[in-house]
Amino acid sequence: MARVFSGIQPSGELHIGNYLGAVQNWTRLQREHECIFCVVDLHAITQPYEPAALPQRTLDMAVSLFAAGLDPERATVFVQSHVPEHTELNWLLTTVTPLGELERQTQFKDKAQRQESVPAGLLSYPILQAADVLLYQATGVPVGEDQLQHLELMREIARRWNARYGKDFFPEPQALLTNTKRILGLDGQAKMSKSLGNTISLFDQPEVIWEKLRPAATDPARKLRTDPGNPDICNLFTMHQGFSPAATVQDVALKCRTAGWGCLDCKRVLADNMIATLTPIRTQAVALKLKPDRVRNMLQAGAEKARAIARRTIAEVRRRMGLLEGAEA
Ligand code: SF4
Repeated sequence: MARVFSGIQPSGELHIGNYLGAVQNWTRLQREHECIFCVVDLHAITQPYEPAALPQRTLDMAVSLFAAGLDPERATVFVQSHVPEHTELNWLLTTVTPLGELERQTQFKDKAQRQESVPAGLLSYPILQAADVLLYQATGVPVGEDQLQHLELMREIARRWNARYGKDFFPEPQALLTNTKRILGLDGQAKMSKSLGNTISLFDQPEVIWEKLRPAATDPARKLRTDPGNPDICNLFTMHQGFSPAATVQDVALKCRTAGWGCLDCKRVLADNMIATLTPIRTQAVALKLKPDRVRNMLQAGAEKARAIARRTIAEVRRRMGLLEGAEA
C-alpha cells in the first residue's frame, strides 16, 4: 500500500471547486492507501493574511474535510504547525536546494510580482512542500497539473539529499494526477475562489445553490433556446461531470449539442444532483460545528499519529547529517 500525502490551505469552508478538485479524490484514496492529509497553515502565512482569523479558518477547513468524508479511522488528518518536524526538515532541506530552481518556479514568479516586498518564505515555499511529503517518506502525491513543477523540484531535493547523505533514504514521490477538470467560478472567467465571490460553498443551502447557479455563465454561443451548445467549453457541464451520474452526463451533452433543452433546464438538473451530494455533507458539518472540541481532539489525535512517523524520520535525518545526538527536543 502506497503512502500518500496531500495538504490544503486553511481557507475556511470548502467550496465545490476544491471539493471536486482535491477532497473528493482524497475520500477515495483513503480507502486504497495509507493517507496523510494536512491543513497547511504554515504555507498560508506566506501570503498576506489576518492572524486573528487564521485559527477559525483552520478549524473550519478541518470541519469541511471531516464533513466531506475524510475518516480519521482511515486517514491521518492534522494541522501542519502541530507537527514541528515539518519546519525542522524544511530547514535541513534548504541546505541542499538550489536557489536557481526556486527562482524558476512559475508560482513564485506569479505571486512575487503581486507583492511589493517579497518574503523569503514565498521563495522557499516549495522546500516546505518537499518537507511535508518527505517527512513521511510518502510515495504518492495527488496533484493537479499546476503543481507538477513543485513536485519535480521535490523529487530533485530528495535526489540531492540522498546523493549527499543516504542512498534511497527519501523515496522520490510520484504524482497521482487527478482526472477532474478544473472548475471555474460561476462567472466562467476566473478560478473558483472565495476572494472573487464566485463560489458555491459545500455548506450552501439548497435555495442558495439554485440562486447562484441560475445566473451562472454557460456556453456563450447559446444565446437562444434553439441555439446548439458545446458542453466541452461549458463550466456547468464540468460541474455535471462532478455531481451527476454518468448516464445524466451523457444525456446533458446530447441535449446541449442538439438544443434539446435550455440552459435553465440543464442547471435545474445540476442543482438537484449537487444538492443531493452536498446535503449530507452540510448536515455533518452542522453537527461538527456544534462540537468544536471534538474536531480539535480529532486533529490532535491526527497530529500525534503523524508526529510518531515524523520523529523517526527526523532522528534518522539528523543522524545522517551528522548533528550531535542529544539535541532532540
Ligand atoms: S445546456 Fe448545459 S452544458 Fe449546454 S451550454 Fe447550457 S448549461 Fe452548458
